[in-house]
Amino acid sequence: MTAADALPGQPRDAVVSGPATARAVNVLAPNASAMTLDGTNTWLVSEPDSELAVVIDPGPLDEGHLRQVIRTAEETGRRVALTLLTHGHPDHAAGAARFAELTGTKVRALDPALRLGDEGLAAGDVIRVGGLEMIVVPTPGHTADSLCFLLPADRAVLTGDTILGRGTTMVAHPDGRLGDYLDSLRRLRSLTVDDGVDTVLPGHGPVLEDAQGAIEFYLAHRASRLAQVESAVEAGHRTVTDVVAHVYADVDRSLWPAAELSVRAQLNYLGEHGLIS
Ligand SMILES: [Zn+2]
Repeated sequence: MTAADALPGQPRDAVVSGPATARAVNVLAPNASAMTLDGTNTWLVSEPDSELAVVIDPGPLDEGHLRQVIRTAEETGRRVALTLLTHGHPDHAAGAARFAELTGTKVRALDPALRLGDEGLAAGDVIRVGGLEMIVVPTPGHTADSLCFLLPADRAVLTGDTILGRGTTMVAHPDGRLGDYLDSLRRLRSLTVDDGVDTVLPGHGPVLEDAQGAIEFYLAHRASRLAQVESAVEAGHRTVTDVVAHVYADVDRSLWPAAELSVRAQLNYLGEHGLIS
């Protein structure tokens, strides 16, 4: 879900394609839309002196894009050695099987149905490829299978759809759950406070250089939406459609189907916490 506001420290029209940190390069997929912002960010990550690269989220099944990702690696003398997925939504994962075929790599993801090869991913796993180290951080909420990848050497975190480079994300009820999502945001905030992470490399939209500010903004935004939904219900807006029209009046209508899933997640959360009947 995109909101009208830019995130802290972020010009609204900033688009990143190309190198973002010492180790991460974005290859932007050509699938721009209201939901995917400028398109899916496919991240190529490698140690500066290594010939091996890891790809996070090959993106949609778009042959030209998948080949462009491989070319981008080759232009810097690298070969793709592993493919990772932040979650299973098709704009991130639909091209994974074809990409794995083109590169001869395994695909690792939390959801066993998305994996190619025998290795999964679990909390705290350390991915090691050509001297590169990334740590797996489970961040359910947008979806149940959402992961982030911490890149300590660049003080950066790859967030998939858990944090976007512009606007805010959706909680894809019933797979995504609001309570999980809030816990995940707090987990990410602790990375910024305790581990010095300052850069967000999102699944869509521009890189964020104020990770803590962005996460605080997300937490505040979720709290304010939740309060709005609670008030709407108290004011007699009983159907999901009615609550969406009331609470998301400031959001472009093309995003209302996504807003509806987020509203369902919020109603579920309020019900579970005894805040609405
Ligand atoms: Zn997604």
